[in-house]
Amino acid sequence: MRIAVGGFQHETNTFAPSKAPWAAFEQADSWPGLQKGPHLLTAFKGMNIPIAGFIDEAEARGHTLLPLVWCSATPSAHVTEEAYERVAEILLDALGYAGEIDAVYLDLHGAMVTEHLEDGEGELLKRVRAAVGPKIPVVASLDLHANVTAEMVEYSDVLIAYRTYPHVDMAETGARAAAHLDAMFAGLPRQAKAMRKIDYLIPLTAQCTLVEPSASIYRDVAALEGAILGNGRVSTVSFAGGFAPADIKDCSPTIIAYADTEVAANEAAERIAKKVNDSESAFREKLWSAPDAVAHAIANAGEGGPIILADTQDNPGAGGNGDTVGILRELIVQNAQSAVLGVLFDPESAKAAAEAGEGARIRLRLGAKTGGADEEPIDDEFEVARISDGEFLATGPFYGGSRMSLGTTARLRKGGVEIVVASRKAQCADQEMLKHIGIEPAKLGILVVKSSVHFRADFGPLAREVLVVESPGPNTADLSKLHYKHLRNGVRVMPLGKPYTG
Ligand SMILES: [Zn+2]
Repeated sequence: MRIAVGGFQHETNTFAPSKAPWAAFEQADSWPGLQKGPHLLTAFKGMNIPIAGFIDEAEARGHTLLPLVWCSATPSAHVTEEAYERVAEILLDALGYAGEIDAVYLDLHGAMVTEHLEDGEGELLKRVRAAVGPKIPVVASLDLHANVTAEMVEYSDVLIAYRTYPHVDMAETGARAAAHLDAMFAGLPRQAKAMRKIDYLIPLTAQCTLVEPSASIYRDVAALEGAILGNGRVSTVSFAGGFAPADIKDCSPTIIAYADTEVAANEAAERIAKKVNDSESAFREKLWSAPDAVAHAIANAGEGGPIILADTQDNPGAGGNGDTVGILRELIVQNAQSAVLGVLFDPESAKAAAEAGEGARIRLRLGAKTGGADEEPIDDEFEVARISDGEFLATGPFYGGSRMSLGTTARLRKGGVEIVVASRKAQCADQEMLKHIGIEPAKLGILVVKSSVHFRADFGPLAREVLVVESPGPNTADLSKLHYKHLRNGVRVMPLGKPYTG
């Protein structure tokens, strides 16, 4: 069969300080830059990215793939109208040139908001559907943080979301989409669809699938695959936990189920919805202030791995700029020892450190340069411990296989505190981000990561304890502090929280 493949990924935090323009999609970050033409089919080899898994699986099943366009940008505020329309145009043009096709696969996130659209993916799928007609299967994979909409479900044949957070199954999800499509080619009956929206938002850090209640919810989701409910067989079920810092009508967790019959699809969606609703109180979690978290870490640090502080609100994987200094300031003030913060985004300081050279002592105004958070840079003298070009291969279960380009990167020292300062934004979710510049994470007393949950895949096994910290940044952990204006009425902005009333 001839399958057109492409992707357009963005996770939009509508409260974040900066938007995603065309250039953000064009350039590489933790993932490759924009790909089109034949190169698209080889560019992702070995990477934990949905399209990589789809391509491998579909080729193994003997299908011919036709490249459309694939691009992604680091999470941020809205995708600009210009960037969205440009990507959509390239994708639809390529679809036109692809000639006769039997199916379309798209690698989507599911939480894209643009300057002109609340539902970037719903609109894209609508345009693709209009181009290929009602009969050609349109299959898409989604991030676990998708804010799924009725339009996305309507204009696709099937949507398949990740089941892990940290997302260690991104490539596997692409492969599952390919297997599902293959089953459709082989005569799977046209699938009935069911969708359930959940009426409360779940903060990112509470969605981790390594712990409860998510661990058992996703076990149940997986177990429904292939189940016979009533007179119908369930083909696939997804639970997207949603991306809460998105001020849109469809923001919330969603269950989507596909089965031979409407009864079976509804029953599958209903079972998971009940489980999620019954778990509401279990989704509440403790948040630490920066001073308390640092004091606790200093008092309890010792041998046997670091105490990890998750600087979740400034997570570049959720719209933060990765440059706030709330926890860093506390580490310095409280004279922490054997402490590292990674990765601070500050190209100006990285460049100044590289120019001064290893061993130099320089005065810097470090971090807090991009605004958004109400804080000042740290004005102090730092020792330049090491400089790198920021190029290395990620090796952990989340980013593994990706060639990282952090630009000029400096390892700075202030007493017992070290800071890894990069020229590009990056979520600290792979040990190589520290190791490539000479830091051994397992030997640290305290490690601060600008990440919400993804760090747990590679750093989690080292941690003696993980504290989720509320320090400045746009990925607000306590969602009741956000000023929503566009949610659906009645949605509780925190588990067991107050309902939104417009
Ligand atoms: Zn995600």
